[in-house]
Amino acid sequence: MFRRVFIFGSTGSIGKKALEIIDTFHGDIEVFGLSAYSSIDCLVAQAIKYRVKVVVVPNLEAKELFHKKWTNKNLIPKILIGSESLVDMAYDSSYDTVIAAIVGIAGMPSALAAAKAGKRILLANKEVLVVAGDLFMQYVFTFKAELIPIDSEHNAIFQCLCGNENGIDFKKIENSINRILLTASGGPFRGYSLDSLQNVTPEKACSHPRWNMGPKISVDSSTMINKGFEVIETHWLFNIPTRKIEILIHPQSVIHSMVEYIDGSIIAQLSKPDMGIPISYALGFPIRTKNKVGFVDFTELRKLDFYQPDFIKFPCLSLAFDALKLGQAHCIVLNAANEVAVDAFLNENIRYTSISRIIDASINWYEQKIPYSLNNLDDILHLDRITRDFARKICHV
Ligand code: NDP
Ligand code: MG
Repeated sequence: MFRRVFIFGSTGSIGKKALEIIDTFHGDIEVFGLSAYSSIDCLVAQAIKYRVKVVVVPNLEAKELFHKKWTNKNLIPKILIGSESLVDMAYDSSYDTVIAAIVGIAGMPSALAAAKAGKRILLANKEVLVVAGDLFMQYVFTFKAELIPIDSEHNAIFQCLCGNENGIDFKKIENSINRILLTASGGPFRGYSLDSLQNVTPEKACSHPRWNMGPKISVDSSTMINKGFEVIETHWLFNIPTRKIEILIHPQSVIHSMVEYIDGSIIAQLSKPDMGIPISYALGFPIRTKNKVGFVDFTELRKLDFYQPDFIKFPCLSLAFDALKLGQAHCIVLNAANEVAVDAFLNENIRYTSISRIIDASINWYEQKIPYSLNNLDDILHLDRITRDFARKICHV
């Protein structure tokens, strides 16, 4: 098995972890290309270490900076600029595997293109499924892309559905499933009262008890909209109706999700909470690779706890369930308003508790505009843009 990969978003938490895991494959995986947005120093170091052929940066200024920092004797990689280049590179036939690890809707066009190009896609970017799940899965089936989720819960469900084999028909599997139990750690504020959430700072929201992640997904996990996104993600990835998806709070984060079949059998995937495990599984699939992050010690763990999610304390969860019920346009608005609100919160322009209010207000604003037709990618991007304009206005940014 030899693979050549392009990492979209190599300078982020998932991108860096993926490179660490690639090192454990001892040359069986070659890194063909990398992309970054603001972390050009990091990109240069990665490009040198992995001797990549292509890098994508956002603009001319970043390209010049990359040139300036390239003090290495090796041949400089081809430097492409702009989001269109990410899409072009998704179609490039010099490599076979895409790791889609850009955060937010910015990762959507290249993920869609990778599906159209029939690549093996290791999908971290969940926003593409939130805003364009139907289209993305249509491309995956039509162009025979090979999709392996690396979001830990979906990687777990994937493992519970197909074990070590390839070729399960996800279109038919729904009939034998009773429930998907999507586990959630509950985030850093599980034990907080509703009132104390008023004073949450960006620093607190980014300190997740179990996972070390980028700032946007850390805030999303704390508001639990991340779990709402993951319900949408589960629905599209595995063709499972929402009524069969249940969230289960499991603070130890050892069970990463479970599939309950109609005969009452439950299959779960357990491991230490480390993204290295799903990434390694996806990179090696269907061959398993020896992990470097350690193994679960049940006698040390002693017990596993489970609770119901709190929809009152975490209103973003209900907003996400409602959006999934109401359709794609609502999901686009949910995602766009959330991206703006989280950014405003991280920049200390709004309070933590305003995040859900901004999303709710944006959905109400959108509902005045119905019907809005979504026929293609441009329509999706247009609705995303006008929602952002509205949400920014009410965030006063
Ligand atoms: P990070 O914020 O750590 O990294 C994001 C990456 O995207 C960076 O490489 C960043 O570049 C790049 N990027 C940011 N904005 C843009 C843009 N406008 N255009 C192009 N590239 C951009 O995020 P994570 O790695 O934590 O998450 C990545 C994705 O994976 C998200 O969708 C998240 O939901 C998902 N995910 C993450 C998990 C985790 O454990 N971290 C777990 C499961 C899913 P730069 O750094 O150079 O600015
Ligand atoms: Mg997850």
